[in-house]
Amino acid sequence: MITVQEAVEIIKTKVKDFGVEEIPLSEAMGRVLREDLFAERDFPPYHRVTMDGIALHYKSYAEGKRSFPIEGIAAAGSPIKTLQDSSACFEVMTGSILPEGTDTVIRYEDLNIKEGTAQLLVDKVKEGQNIHYKGEDRKAGSLVTKQGRRLSAAEIGVAATIGKAKIKVSKLPKAMIISTGDELVEIHEKPLAHQIRRSNVHRLKATLSGLGLPVDTHHLNDDMEEILANLSEFINKYDVLVLSGGVSKGKFDFLPEALEKLGVQKLFHKIKQRPGKPFWFGEAPNGCLVFALPGNPVSSFLCTHRYFIPWLEQSLALPPEKNATALLKSDFFFKPDLTYFLQVKINYNADGQILAEPVVGHGSGDLANLVDADAFLQLPRGRNEFKQGEAFPLFFYR
Ligand code: AMP
Ligand code: MG
Repeated sequence: MITVQEAVEIIKTKVKDFGVEEIPLSEAMGRVLREDLFAERDFPPYHRVTMDGIALHYKSYAEGKRSFPIEGIAAAGSPIKTLQDSSACFEVMTGSILPEGTDTVIRYEDLNIKEGTAQLLVDKVKEGQNIHYKGEDRKAGSLVTKQGRRLSAAEIGVAATIGKAKIKVSKLPKAMIISTGDELVEIHEKPLAHQIRRSNVHRLKATLSGLGLPVDTHHLNDDMEEILANLSEFINKYDVLVLSGGVSKGKFDFLPEALEKLGVQKLFHKIKQRPGKPFWFGEAPNGCLVFALPGNPVSSFLCTHRYFIPWLEQSLALPPEKNATALLKSDFFFKPDLTYFLQVKINYNADGQILAEPVVGHGSGDLANLVDADAFLQLPRGRNEFKQGEAFPLFFYR
């Protein structure tokens, strides 16, 4: 049996590169950017007026002029205008180009406009006010977004402004989630007294879809022949399989034997942790990775967040997440010599710290408890008592 850290290290050696593809920007939300984005022109591309009002030549204001004949109107979207008489003004709209010969904008609220003349109502005008200067934010050719980050709405906006109708992103692995177990029925079915619905698949699929990874799903009964036939096909078709159930010591836990029969090399089986101890991880000769997670709902969920998601993110060329930590909100006691992933509810105190409040539940089968908690707090092996106010790594799942 290996430690949590050893498991993390082994999985890290199996981070893959699934390549790069170009997709429409409209489909890129949540995907990982694989090209640097540069400013195509200056941001903003012209001296942009930021208030509806008038633009004038500051010098005439400084010389005492307070009334300005209006020469014309500059609307957003009209080509640049030129002020002919430096003691006059131009009406300008937000988003228009500052007219040639003007350098200062005064908003309508500070003006009285009558019979083609703008009269100043205020006595405080700053030279250059209400103008967003060409190139002030970013210069043409400068880097605006570096590759290797998940595209959020902020990056999509920048990509749109530089005309990236198509964008390069990390290709996604072809992934399948497979439940195993004779007791499992589909969600639309009414389970008999000895059956339950296969909730793991739906929880895991939802988790991965939320990260932008579409997955196929399948179910296998606890039948060696069925398992062998199906898995050998899936191993050839998919980059990664996430299995749930069938990896413990039970009479019908066929997966470890089946996977080895199919030539999948076992990289580890069992981690010194609770929940999720029976986790089996291996790689097929063609490179297909197999994350065979324990069937208990909390176990498979924890393993997905603690192991599968970091593997996925690194395989998509994201930098490793900086580990968040949280302060234990009350003393906690745990005796076995295992790393314990305590389910916790997150709160924030007045000092801006994250507090993790234990939400204990009834063990690895208690899927309802996941609804009450928000995250797992990783409590180290080798000690029994964990004190209020101590900080531990946090794995947030919401
Ligand atoms: P196993 O790891 O196959 O021994 O399963 C451990 C426990 O998890 C058993 O109580 C199973 O019924 C339950 N379990 C396995 N797979 C699922 C699933 N897909 N959804 C809900 N519970 C499951
Ligand atoms: Mg089972």
